[in-house]
Amino acid sequence: MKVEKRIEDVKKILKGVENKKIGFVPTMGYLHDGHLSLIKKAREDNDFVVVSVYVNPTQFGENEDLDSYPRDLKRDQELIKDYCDLLFIPENSEIYPNGYNTFVSVKGRITEILCAKNRPTHFKGVTTIVAKLFNIVEPDNVYFGLKDFQQFKVIEKMINELNLNINIHGCEIIREKTGLAMSSRNSYLSDKEKEDALILYKSLISTREKINNNERNVKKLIEEVKNNIENLGYPIIDYIEILDYETLEEIDEVKDKSIMLMAVKFNNTRLIDNMIMEV
Ligand code: AMP
Repeated sequence: MKVEKRIEDVKKILKGVENKKIGFVPTMGYLHDGHLSLIKKAREDNDFVVVSVYVNPTQFGENEDLDSYPRDLKRDQELIKDYCDLLFIPENSEIYPNGYNTFVSVKGRITEILCAKNRPTHFKGVTTIVAKLFNIVEPDNVYFGLKDFQQFKVIEKMINELNLNINIHGCEIIREKTGLAMSSRNSYLSDKEKEDALILYKSLISTREKINNNERNVKKLIEEVKNNIENLGYPIIDYIEILDYETLEEIDEVKDKSIMLMAVKFNNTRLIDNMIMEV
């Protein structure tokens, strides 16, 4: 696995594999089995696999965890070296040189709902860095986790609307044995918070069971989950929603295919999770 910091050097290496199928997995590092599942899928589908590790400052809000975001590049390299051909680890000055002022944003409802309500500039930062990385790597296939379902939809829309010649693959959520969705941010959690955070997965499962038992009322389903989480005392609910799976429009009744999405803060750690609900 080659490791490069400079765009120029990445481009040089990629020039040598021009006729090969390139798979790309952008990450912010502190890698876990969730990331690894994307990288392994990229390995299966492509001749040449590129992974980036870059904690992108433009997708963090002012009072968010940019500075404390966990980093361990050595461990990351060890974890992926058997599956990745080129690891790109740019510095901020390489991505956003002095005077940088070009941004890519997907407008409209998709970047106004859910995570965007409390993180209004987040997706603009995501689409900007992802568009830049796509232009640097010029991949055939890109892999994103469905844990960040809204992010997946936003990037899919950007790819379509900018006519990028890229296939996007959404990969299933990888969980700890306990059910907790894997996340680099789980490393912030104390043992107690980690145990309490299982309520997210349990709530998704119990809602799915209720739907299977013919409960269809979205308000009622959400209210029950809210009450359970609030009973823990300290978590702060950012959102809990059940939306139409395809359009992410609000619905009153669960029908066909919906998706339940939630974001909850356990003290300083904000966790997200989701699950498809099929009737
Ligand atoms: P991040 O490093 O958090 O920016 O994530 C990089 C990619 O890994 C994104 O496409 C995420 O959706 C994906 N990812 C993160 N956690 C998981 C998980 N538990 N299961 C599947 N994909 C994940």
